[in-house]
Amino acid sequence: MMKILIKNAKAIVTCNDSDQVLFDSDILLNGKEIEAIGHDLSADGAKVIDAHKMFVYPGLINTHHHFLQAFTRSIPQLQQATLFDWLIFMYEVWTLVDPEHVYYSSLVGMSELVKYGCTTAFDHHFCFPQGVDKVLIDRQMTAAEQVGIRYHAGRSCFTLTHKDGGLPPDVLGETVDEFIKDCDRLIDTYHEYDRFGMKRVVVAPCSPFSVTDDTITEAVKLARSKKVRMHSHLAEAPDETVYMRDRHNMTSLEWAQKLGFIGPDIWYAHGICFSDDEVRILGETQTGVAHCPVSNMKTCAGFMKLPLMKKYDVPVGLAVDGYGAQDGSNLLGEIRMAYLMHRMNANHQEAPSGYECLKLATRGSARVLGRDDVGSLEVGKAADLFMIDVDRLEYAGGLLDPGAFPAVVGYNRPVEMTIINGKIVWENGVLHGIDEEAVKAKANEIAKRVYSSGVYARETARMDKKYAK
Ligand SMILES: [Zn+2]
Repeated sequence: MMKILIKNAKAIVTCNDSDQVLFDSDILLNGKEIEAIGHDLSADGAKVIDAHKMFVYPGLINTHHHFLQAFTRSIPQLQQATLFDWLIFMYEVWTLVDPEHVYYSSLVGMSELVKYGCTTAFDHHFCFPQGVDKVLIDRQMTAAEQVGIRYHAGRSCFTLTHKDGGLPPDVLGETVDEFIKDCDRLIDTYHEYDRFGMKRVVVAPCSPFSVTDDTITEAVKLARSKKVRMHSHLAEAPDETVYMRDRHNMTSLEWAQKLGFIGPDIWYAHGICFSDDEVRILGETQTGVAHCPVSNMKTCAGFMKLPLMKKYDVPVGLAVDGYGAQDGSNLLGEIRMAYLMHRMNANHQEAPSGYECLKLATRGSARVLGRDDVGSLEVGKAADLFMIDVDRLEYAGGLLDPGAFPAVVGYNRPVEMTIINGKIVWENGVLHGIDEEAVKAKANEIAKRVYSSGVYARETARMDKKYAK
């Protein structure tokens, strides 16, 4: 495998246990792995990269997303909608989803992540319309391979639909058996258990208001027998709290606990509506949470109790959430959002620092995904990193604290280079794995198809009526 020698980096933010930042230093990548970090490194035959203008960071890790929403975002009628109104609209439009939609929306989402320094992505794909070939996760795996991103595919489902009191329409429903069998197939086909594995599978029922209790218990049984991780939305917004009280007379976490869906091999998305005592339980059980600041703000869901989660040592990672709730796929920008958001709801000492927000997206996210091979720049860790050129007029005087730089100064543009698994996948504005122009044309064509469909026209008219002033 090729060696890459990154020379004279202006700063290397390692995110290691000692939180070391190294100045004017080198990193030697040997194939998938970091071989050395230090001064005056050399390696015969290595590709040498001059990094004297660069800050170098561990690759970012995204812990919650819905790529399929790339072609259902920024919809005017939904910008003021509640979570449940938004979902009910979306479910109808997602009945149009097919393998091509999933493949191209995944290419769009993965590419944007990579452009902004993300090297490991998780996606939560829940939409399997009846009659559509169940190759949707398979198409995502192909997309990930082409883009070159390290990919954790969440196989989700809807097993509680309209007819049984769930939120999604019946046409998106699957049986528990269909769901479990497909998870089993995907794990056997794709899950790479070994260190530096590029493809992993997560058993990921969608949410408390769209899956049955036995979906959860069967998911736990399968995932633990196969030694893979589990995921779901939980305690996302006040709408869910009301639904769970009315349907189950319990909170979302009480429901999860009752079904055994809690523990160190599980992480929940959002986790807004937990009580203080429930946050303590998350810490005790080492159950993780994917924090999605932009989504939480945009959907008026509220503040995740990040300072309390830190106190109880809850594993927390950072995430962009799906396009529908975020409209973008930029995890680098999310670091600054996390930093600023908690300044509004906590005192100066309790709110996370800029560097702590970077660590949410690196070490924190790695912990949430159950990986100890990514998330920091150390010898023996994966060769996953990104570099930014800070030798620009706008950053003059702002370079004192490289660890805090993305959060505090707010670097929010495509990075100079992203390396994943020892390969340069994004460099000087070029994605090496795909033909960006061709993908863009096809993606726009699919989005146009969605927005000119009858179901879209029907749902936008319904929302116009509902929210008419
Ligand atoms: Zn989500």
